[in-house]
Amino acid sequence: MTAEITAAPEITAKGAQDGVFIDRLYIEGLLEEAKHTGDAEIRRILDKAERFEGLNHIEIASLLAAKDPAHIARIFSIAGKIKRHIYGNRIVLFAPLYVSDYCVNRCSYCSYNCGHDFNRRKLTMDEVREEVKILEQMGHKRIAMEAGEHDEECPIEYILECMKTIYAMKFENGEIRRINVNIAATTVENYRKLKEVGIGTYILFQETYHQPTYEKVHLGGPKRDYAYHLTAFDRAQEGGIDDVGGGVLFGLADPYFEVLALMIHNEHLEQRFNVGFHTISVPRLCPADGISMADFPNLVDDAVFERIVAIIRLAVPFTGMILSTRESHLMRERLLKLGISQISAGSSTGVGGYRQRQLREKSSPQFNINDDRSAPEIISELMDDGFIPSFCTACYRNGRTGDRFMALAKAGQIKNVCLPNALMTLCEYAMDYGDGPFRAKAAAAIARELPGIKNEKTRLRAGENMEKIRRGARDFYF
Ligand code: SAM
Repeated sequence: MTAEITAAPEITAKGAQDGVFIDRLYIEGLLEEAKHTGDAEIRRILDKAERFEGLNHIEIASLLAAKDPAHIARIFSIAGKIKRHIYGNRIVLFAPLYVSDYCVNRCSYCSYNCGHDFNRRKLTMDEVREEVKILEQMGHKRIAMEAGEHDEECPIEYILECMKTIYAMKFENGEIRRINVNIAATTVENYRKLKEVGIGTYILFQETYHQPTYEKVHLGGPKRDYAYHLTAFDRAQEGGIDDVGGGVLFGLADPYFEVLALMIHNEHLEQRFNVGFHTISVPRLCPADGISMADFPNLVDDAVFERIVAIIRLAVPFTGMILSTRESHLMRERLLKLGISQISAGSSTGVGGYRQRQLREKSSPQFNINDDRSAPEIISELMDDGFIPSFCTACYRNGRTGDRFMALAKAGQIKNVCLPNALMTLCEYAMDYGDGPFRAKAAAAIARELPGIKNEKTRLRAGENMEKIRRGARDFYF
């Protein structure tokens, strides 16, 4: 790598002032320069990643450009090592809840595009309750609420009402304990309102950081405003939401450009708010009604996708990585080993889709999913593969959000609470939703993992709590 770009220019600092922290020419130049990174420099970067120190975007550019099969093999092996060391075998589970498909935008990749003609709808509060009841019957405790953008049909008040309705629901086996929200970029005032009703993570995908592509695929509507979309997390933070989740829709532009820009965005948030992304999602473009995949020349193949996931894992070891049912069973299994820490299970991507699935009615999904296993199948198969399905929502409930979460995670403290919480929530799930064989499988997994809790007092308390759970007590968390 040449001397000129080993020091990051003023782009991120400039961004703190005017919100323009993604400089396309700078990123393209860096990707070009990075092709000349020397062998010794790549080894230094990999050594740094292996010490769980994370990487800056210049180092990330070098890994994205790496060609030597030995370096690429090491990227994968370090990703696996980071995953095992920081996240152990735990996989956090969630489900999406689509509440409204009204949309004023014209996004060429999305079936909600306002130019598409289909029967649009939003859930009434009774329908929200019905959907949540079904999600609860699957054992979910954490949801990602999704909606199209439509100020009249789906104003912020509607989203807030949905959230309050959901948080007010109590079931015999518990309740939805964390609502993450994925709605269009909005104002500081609206983010403040979301915070007041208890949003978990505010999730928003930039879709593409490549502005010419962004403008090509967002043909109309407020979402077409690149800078407004790009600065949404700055406003969310200003509104008090300190857990924000980023991502790009892989398949729109050059994936290496996207990863580098995503990491620069993360650095910008770290610099400005002392905390970067709480989670990163890695959605890949899927077939959807009214969309022709042939119109998208930058589709990402499996090999490149795996490499991207691995490099993000090296770059931001403490940031959760989310994979949805857009990916197949096989792909999910592979990526879980490389860095993914959260997956959705039993998902429906249509408004009212859970009820329609029960009634075997046809729904209008936002996109077609690639993993249609039921939630119990996914959960059981995760255990067969040695993972611990976790329904934990403790950090959020204990106020461990934003920079407080990151400080604890970086100090290696989070894992002292994550493992016991994962085991206790799995135990609860097994008692409430599992049959005999499932409970036996969960008990064996718990017995295998329990000695991994290093703090003796915590280990004993977790064991005692699980005894209590087996006798009917619920909802223990550290
Ligand atoms: N309306 C919100 C916004 O403007 O950001 C987001 C909600 S939308 C329901 C959630 C995400 O679905 C989008 O951000 C987009 O990345 C993704 N999505 C849309 N069409 C898709 C497709 N065909 N394949 C995969 N993901 C898609």
